[in-house]
Amino acid sequence: MTVSVWQDKSGARHLAADVAVVGAGVVGSYLALALTRRGLDVVVLEMRFPASGATGRNAGMVLTGTGEYYHTAAERHGRERARAIWRATVENREATRRLHDELGLAYDACGSLRLAVSEEEARDLALAHEQMRADGLEGVLHEGDPLNRGFLAALEQPKDLGINPVAFVEAMLKASGAHVVEDCEVFDLAAEGYGVVLRSRLATVRAGVAMLATNAYSPLLHPFFRALIAPTRGQVLVSAPVPRVIETLCYANYGYEYFRQLRDGRMLVGGWRQRYADVEVGYADEVTPGVQAGLEGFLRERFPELGAGVERRWSGVMGFSRTGLPIVGQLPELPGVGYAVGFTGHGLGLGIAAADALIGLLLDGAPPGAFVEPDLTASPPG
Ligand SMILES: Cc1cc2nc3c(=O)[nH]c(=O)nc-3n(C[C@H](O)[C@H](O)[C@H](O)COP(=O)(O)OP(=O)(O)OC[C@H]3O[C@@H](n4cnc5c(N)ncnc54)[C@H](O)[C@@H]3O)c2cc1C
Repeated sequence: MTVSVWQDKSGARHLAADVAVVGAGVVGSYLALALTRRGLDVVVLEMRFPASGATGRNAGMVLTGTGEYYHTAAERHGRERARAIWRATVENREATRRLHDELGLAYDACGSLRLAVSEEEARDLALAHEQMRADGLEGVLHEGDPLNRGFLAALEQPKDLGINPVAFVEAMLKASGAHVVEDCEVFDLAAEGYGVVLRSRLATVRAGVAMLATNAYSPLLHPFFRALIAPTRGQVLVSAPVPRVIETLCYANYGYEYFRQLRDGRMLVGGWRQRYADVEVGYADEVTPGVQAGLEGFLRERFPELGAGVERRWSGVMGFSRTGLPIVGQLPELPGVGYAVGFTGHGLGLGIAAADALIGLLLDGAPPGAFVEPDLTASPPG
């Protein structure tokens, strides 16, 4: 989005803070909490309302590992980086569990299954499991289908969590005590003295440093991200409540389809975007007949007895990076502005770990480890 001169009221209010956080999704709200716990003054600027982006529109699955199976990740990113990222997802999951306990939030400690839909995927699950074992990473391989729904094999992560991501964001922001300004798009970032100045629709904020938690929207805020982040739509549907048929989080067909039964019995199903990859891009918040029909068909095929109507459909915009992994760094010409973006559909699994890496980078001078700068010669995001 953009801000016109008529909408610009940045001069009307002047705020000062140790850290300005841009964006109030899971990453921005965790940053706010972690930073205020370090005794810092934090202002959060959010262009809509907290969890209005992908965080409030996802499936609520906190999964161990990334979208790629482990052996594929090791081949693509190198074994050391793949292992470091995997460990980051374990730390992220445990931090999420601790925060839920501390904040008094409910969650489902139900574990997850990666489910094979083809012989090829079953072989990939076995290969992934073999390399995970060799690298000391947890995971249970099932040679059949533990759900008895026609899948060919499964890789179980017994400690994965199902959460309500909106409740999580709201509780973190509340506990942080940070000053949150909603409906307030940031449209300009500049260096000033030893700090940074952010101009936003309703206020000008001066801060020691700024942290961008703007994921898919980052290219709209600063041109640096245009070559790095591709906005990519994901769609979901939720059925009317049905009798309990599954207890666990499910991620099938290399993650292109995922489903979970909510506590009240409603089935949430998402994915199907790879069949429409050329149109499931950009910032439009809309559901499309092709993807939605695909999701309904998937639900009917795997759970023919349910026959429930659809209660809700929605979409959200993910920020795909070039490598499929999040990136943490500083803007080249504005080192006082750091970013943790590019979650490629896995921000609940890696957002906290990446936010911690960003805090380490900007406040303690620690290199961002596995969240290193992307290889600019890699293929474009998407
Ligand atoms: C349908 C769907 C299902 C998904 N399922 C899962 C899942 O089960 N598990 C998982 O791990 N991940 C999932 N994801 C991905 C996950 O939702 C994201 O990776 C994660 O929410 C990213 O969090 P974030 O805080 O970085 O970004 P966002 O939640 O998108 O937050 C960014 C915020 O920044 C604000 N903003 C942007 N630009 C500006 C600006 N200039 N000024 C002020 N504010 C600004 C936006 O309004 C927004 O609130 C899914 C995504 C979708 C769309």
